[in-house]
Amino acid sequence: MLIDRITMEEFLIGLEKTQSVIVPFGSVEEHGRHLPLGTDTLHVHALARETSLIRPVFVAPPVWYGLCRSTARHPGTITISGLTVRTLAIEIASSLYGHGLRNFILISGHAGGTHMAALTDAGEEILERLSESRVAVLSILELVADLSTGLVETPGDSHAGEVETSLMLEIEPDLIRRTSPEEYPSFPRPILVRNKRRYWPGGVWGNPAAASRDKGRRILAEEARLLARLIDRIESHLEE
Ligand SMILES: [Zn+2]
Repeated sequence: MLIDRITMEEFLIGLEKTQSVIVPFGSVEEHGRHLPLGTDTLHVHALARETSLIRPVFVAPPVWYGLCRSTARHPGTITISGLTVRTLAIEIASSLYGHGLRNFILISGHAGGTHMAALTDAGEEILERLSESRVAVLSILELVADLSTGLVETPGDSHAGEVETSLMLEIEPDLIRRTSPEEYPSFPRPILVRNKRRYWPGGVWGNPAAASRDKGRRILAEEARLLARLIDRIESHLEE
């Protein structure tokens, strides 16, 4: 049940089937030379829609913007603060809670550490504020880590590489422009740097050449199965 595409009457009927909602978070962020800036949002929204075909669940419209730290200076990236990410998550959940939703799956197509920290912080605040809420916070990278072995070949593939390129071949093939070379960033951790492009010029973390549409179809189906299982878990989760 895609909330932006149903009526208020259908919303009420949906509430009789489930009190769970997926709130997809994405980003507008560089994804190498070959993938569109909207990759994270397009992916996480497609995953949420796919999951809603497997089992009853509401899907909120995606939040298109996220906190992009390492890619903020790459052309086209639009970054917002962690405070704004946190506020958006809390206010969206609070509004949906008022309509009877209780189980909130905050899933992000963008897996940046500072972005995920803001969402996790929001999840804790939702638990505090909304007494009957249950909250799960995760990025798609965590789902990919649980994929059955053999599906992804590139170790540590995480950004505009094998996984995201495969998924975009399946979800939005017309938006792909040829390919980008295999690349991994070389940040001098833990030292922070101003000129992040110098240490990550191509903006790819992984190997796009290992991508295929068949992999994309299988990864998306597997992710949806894992997300559906998480919704089962959160719905039966009991806390003292
Ligand atoms: Zn991405």
